[in-house]
Amino acid sequence: MRGQGDFVYPGEEIAVIEEFSAGENTYEDNGQVRASSLGKVFYDMINRRSNILSVKRPILLNLKKAKYVYGTVTLVKEDSATVSINSIEERFISPSITGYLHISQISNKYLEKITDGIKLGDIIKARPLSISIPLPLTLKGKDLGVVLAQCSICGTLMIKTDEEHLKCPNCGNIEKRKLGNYAVKKVGN
Ligand SMILES: [Zn+2]
Repeated sequence: MRGQGDFVYPGEEIAVIEEFSAGENTYEDNGQVRASSLGKVFYDMINRRSNILSVKRPILLNLKKAKYVYGTVTLVKEDSATVSINSIEERFISPSITGYLHISQISNKYLEKITDGIKLGDIIKARPLSISIPLPLTLKGKDLGVVLAQCSICGTLMIKTDEEHLKCPNCGNIEKRKLGNYAVKKVGN
């Protein structure tokens, strides 16, 4: 279980079904309740329901001071990707801002193809390079990169196995990414 008001990503476990049932912006998965949207955890103690509150109040954007942003990869081309940015550091923004990621800004290592670094639907933590729209982004940096990804075969949340690989716990598929502070790490064997 998480703390009341904790910031979570889609797919993160927030409760087990015996403690709290699945409420707003959550779903059930093998007896666990997971967040289906980016937001803050709210445990409704009276109704024993766990909810995710997507904060939508507009905020004054101060992108110049932003060290990092979070977004979802919405389009992948041969040498660039489009990102829908929905939070600046830990503050939600609505509507989202469009970001732009060039293949040269994904990793310090050479990438044969862009999909060795990111894939469609990935949630990334990125740093803005300058202030323009679309917002140019970089994933170069220790904590920057993909923070949550789904298996491209079966859609299950992938688990981090080493510095640049993810494994699907459902079908065993292994995929490469430029990983940031990845949310789901390997536990046990
Ligand atoms: Zn899979």
